[in-house]
Amino acid sequence: MNELLTHKEYKAIAKTMDIPKTAFIDGKNRPGKGKKLKTRNPATGDLIATIASCNKQDVDLAVKKANEAFYQGIWAKKDPQDRKEILIKFCKLITRNRRELAVIESLESGKPIFDCEQIDLPETINTIKWHAESIDKIYDQAGPTNENALSLIVREPIGVVAAILPWNFPLLMLAWKIGPALASGCSIIVKPAEQTSISALKLANLASEAGIPNGVFQVLPGDGKSVGEPLALHEKVDMISFTGSTETGKKILKYSAQSNLKKVVLECGGKNPAIVFADAENLDTVAEHIVTGAFWNMGENCSAISRLIVNKKVKKQLLEKIRFRLRDWKTGDPLDPKNRLGALIDSDHCKKVKSYIDKKIPDGPFISPLIIEVLKKDKRAKDEIFGPILSVIEVNNDDEAIAIANETPYGLTASIFTSSSRKAIRTARELKAGTVTINCYGEGDITTPFGGYKQSGFGGRDNGLHAHEQYTETKTIWIDLNDPLEGDNIG
Ligand code: ADP
Repeated sequence: MNELLTHKEYKAIAKTMDIPKTAFIDGKNRPGKGKKLKTRNPATGDLIATIASCNKQDVDLAVKKANEAFYQGIWAKKDPQDRKEILIKFCKLITRNRRELAVIESLESGKPIFDCEQIDLPETINTIKWHAESIDKIYDQAGPTNENALSLIVREPIGVVAAILPWNFPLLMLAWKIGPALASGCSIIVKPAEQTSISALKLANLASEAGIPNGVFQVLPGDGKSVGEPLALHEKVDMISFTGSTETGKKILKYSAQSNLKKVVLECGGKNPAIVFADAENLDTVAEHIVTGAFWNMGENCSAISRLIVNKKVKKQLLEKIRFRLRDWKTGDPLDPKNRLGALIDSDHCKKVKSYIDKKIPDGPFISPLIIEVLKKDKRAKDEIFGPILSVIEVNNDDEAIAIANETPYGLTASIFTSSSRKAIRTARELKAGTVTINCYGEGDITTPFGGYKQSGFGGRDNGLHAHEQYTETKTIWIDLNDPLEGDNIG
C-alpha cells in the first residue's frame, strides 16, 4: 500500500504540477490543428487546462509516422531484451512520477485520490511491467510435419494500432492497450477520451524519455468525430483496440468494414449481475464484496455489479449489511483521501444517472450510493446506468436467478455467492459472461483475460498473454526439406 498524503498536500501538488497541453506526435509536443479542448475538474467545474486537440490532418501525420517507425523496424525489430529494458525504464519513470499522475487522474476524472493511489497507479505500472517482462519469454511453435518438411507458426506484430479510450480508467485502460501492443512490437496511436487526456500526454512524454522511439507511441487528444473516426476509417491503421460504449463499438466495426477491414477488438458495456443464493456462506463478506463491486469508482465501471439478484430468504438481512457498510463510503472532494466516492464525470452523464432516480437529488456532480429494489422488467434492471446505483431483484429459486442473470444483451462479468462449490461451478458454466467470480467481486488480474460475451465485447481479450493475440498476426512458414538432388520429390 502506498502511503497517502493529506488533502492539503494533494491540493498543493495540484497547484504546482506541470500539465502537458499539447498533442504528442512523432516524439514531439505539437499544438494540434483541431479546436482546443477545455479539461474541467468534474468536482468543481474549474478549468484544469486548455489543451490541444487534433483533426484529420494530425491523424494522417501520426499514422504516417507510426507506419514509418514500424517499417523501419526501430521498435518492432529491436532485440526483445532491449525492448523489455526500455519498457521497464518507462515503468520506473511512471513510478517516479506516480504522485503527480495520481493527482492528474483524480482531477480530470473525478475519481477519489484514494483509488488513484491504491489501485489505478499501481495497476498501471504492474500492467506495463508484466507485459514488458513477457517479451523475451514467449515462444513460437513448430508444427507436426513429416520428416521432409518443417513448419513454423510464428506471431508477428500486427503493425499500426489505434487505441480509443474511455474516461473512467484513463491510465489503466491506456496501460491495458499500450502494454501488450508495445511488447508485441507494434506502433500505437492513443486517442484518450476528450474529458481525460492529460494523463495520457504525460505518459507519452515519459515513454519518450525512457527511449521509446519517435512515432511508436503517440497521443492525439480530440473528440470521437475529429480523431476517433478518422483513425478507425484510416487505410493505414491495421487495428483498433477500443474500450467504451457498445453503441460506439458498433460504429467502429462499421468503419473497419468501410475501410481496410482493420482488426477490431471491442471492450464495451455491461449490466453485471451478482447472484446471492440462499446458502451464501457469510453475508458480512458478501455485503463487503457487493458494496465494492457496485460503488467502486462511483459505479462508472463497465464491470460494476449493477444488478443484485438475491434469494428472498436472505435479501432483508443482506441489504441491512450492505447499508451498514455503506456508512464508511463517504462522497465528496476526490482529492480528499477520506472520500471513497468522488464526482461523476460531467453534467450530461450526471443528468443521465439522475434520470434513473425517483427522489430529488441535490444539484451538483456528487451522487451518494443508492440501492433500489426493482422488478426484473424495470429499466434500472436492464440499462447500463454507469453510476452509483445498485438495482436489487428478488428471486424465489436458483434457476430463476440464473435466467435473470443471463437476460441481458451484455455479458461482461458476473459474481456468484454460495457455500456449495458444486453449485458455484455449475452456475459459472451457465452464465454468459467473460469473467465469473465465485464468492468475491473482481475482474481477475493481469494474468487473466478480460472481455465480454454478447454485446459486451468483440474480437479479443485484454490482459494476460491472450492480449498479445490482439496485437499480433499468425504466420505459417513452411520449409521443404527434400534434397533437390535426389530426384522427383515434389508433391
Ligand atoms: P461514453 O459514452 O462512455 O463516453 P463512448 O463510447 O462515447 O463512451 O466513448 C469512448 C471513446 O470513444 C471516447 O474516446 C470517444 O471520444 C470515442 N468515440 C466516440 N464516438 C466515436 C466515433 N464515432 N468514432 C470513434 N471514436 C468515438
